[in-house]
Amino acid sequence: MNVTDLLNSVPTGLWQGGRSAPSESGRTFEVLNPATGRVLTSVANATPADARAALDAACSVADEWAATPPRRRAEILRAAFDAVTARAEDFALLMTLEMGKVLPESRGEVAYGAEFLRWFSEEAVRIGGRTATAPAGTGEIAVVKEPVGPCLAITPWNFPLAMGTRKIGPALAAGCTMIVKPAEDTPLTMLLLARVFTEAGLPPGVLSVLPTLDAPAVVAELMNDSRLRKVSFTGSTAVGKKLLAQASENVLRTSMELGGSAPFLVFDDADLDRAVDGAMLAKMRNGGEACTAANRILVQNGIREAFTAALTERVAAMEVGPGWEDSSTIGPIITEKQRSSIAALVDDAVAAGAIVRTGGGKVDGAGFFFEPTVLEAIPDGARIRREEIFGPVAAIVGFDTEDEGVALANDTEYGLAAYFFTENIGRAQRVARRLQAGMVGVNRGVISDPAAPFGGIKQSGLGSEGGSEGIAEYLNTKYIALPPA
Ligand code: NAD
Repeated sequence: MNVTDLLNSVPTGLWQGGRSAPSESGRTFEVLNPATGRVLTSVANATPADARAALDAACSVADEWAATPPRRRAEILRAAFDAVTARAEDFALLMTLEMGKVLPESRGEVAYGAEFLRWFSEEAVRIGGRTATAPAGTGEIAVVKEPVGPCLAITPWNFPLAMGTRKIGPALAAGCTMIVKPAEDTPLTMLLLARVFTEAGLPPGVLSVLPTLDAPAVVAELMNDSRLRKVSFTGSTAVGKKLLAQASENVLRTSMELGGSAPFLVFDDADLDRAVDGAMLAKMRNGGEACTAANRILVQNGIREAFTAALTERVAAMEVGPGWEDSSTIGPIITEKQRSSIAALVDDAVAAGAIVRTGGGKVDGAGFFFEPTVLEAIPDGARIRREEIFGPVAAIVGFDTEDEGVALANDTEYGLAAYFFTENIGRAQRVARRLQAGMVGVNRGVISDPAAPFGGIKQSGLGSEGGSEGIAEYLNTKYIALPPA
């Protein structure tokens, strides 16, 4: 499909009641292509009144959806998986256009994002419960699982499809209805997904999508309404904290996938080539715009120069350009604002004495491109050693002993992902346990898997998405006390 036909196939209204509809205000907003800085299209701009209407719809069908046999819910999820997979090229190109990542990475996200629909279609029929005889013989204990009720999902722009399917899949499988508030920079992928779901047989009202430029007001309208029962958020820690405070008002169930500052440790006994391959993935995949991105590359001093030289060579060879061009290996940053904040972190580090091995600044011309960068000798006080970079900047810091490396890795308020490279099995077991993170990659630069629980500790979040743990986030536990048999 060419770009014009593709854009024409994407609903540009709010997705409500199984169809595309304008905002009650009649207002719209523009979606930009970050590779050109030009407008792709405009979408409806939801208001609090639109949010109320979506919640009315989610509540009116909530009982019916919860009572829909798990097998039927599974079949609809599976049909949606098949439909997304059949339109994989359309979803991939759409993500490249609105978010900027290169097409091979967009294709990878389609496969990863669709897999949550297949995985949770398989989980829908295995929800289960348990029974037991009370130890005193006074009765029977029955434990059943029930959907939590209408849910709100708030998603970021960096994985426009997968951050949605990771929430929609388990919610629908559990029997919950869901309203999605997609990131304002990338609403198109979620709107296309909603249409695909409706075509796959999802009843109207079960899934709504509300793009808006006024997230705080739209989200507050929903969270202040006691009919909403859960909020699942992926985004920055700062916004997550606000939402947690708001969620306390109606004691909402919450799932929080927040920011990260992943350490990437390379020990002297690592396989150098494997570690460099891992660093390229953990740092440069998605243009470095990933919550799991290697934010602090910590390298033992015996291997540091060899590792830095090899990584620099690979990074310097990257081709910056529009994601749809075959030659491009890295696309633009999502917005000029985000690009400027990456530049400010690099400038601050350089002013403090860091050495630029390659890259270091914005790329002149149209679009929001930034040079893939390697920095080393970064002094302790530089902001880049503590803050989330969210861009293609590898920040390398040396260490001497295993204890020192682990201490540096854990010296952060975040605890999402951590990676380390060693060929020593004893060290592998030891360090995996010592790292304070919800997810640890051993000799691997990519860890996400729909069948595994994704989630952080410390200020990186609450709860898990994916795996058998993912559906539990959308289920309440009810104990039914029965008389003795
Ligand atoms: P963000 O927090 O600015 O925005 C995320 C979402 O929240 C967007 O949809 C936005 O419109 C909405 N939002 C913003 N302010 C809000 C408010 N006051 N009330 C309600 N909603 C509000 O984050 P971002 O810039 O879109 O994404 C980048 C961040 O997301 C990074 O910190 C990254 O680490 C994190 N992230 C985490 C994960 C994870 O799984 N842990 C995955 C991807 C991204």
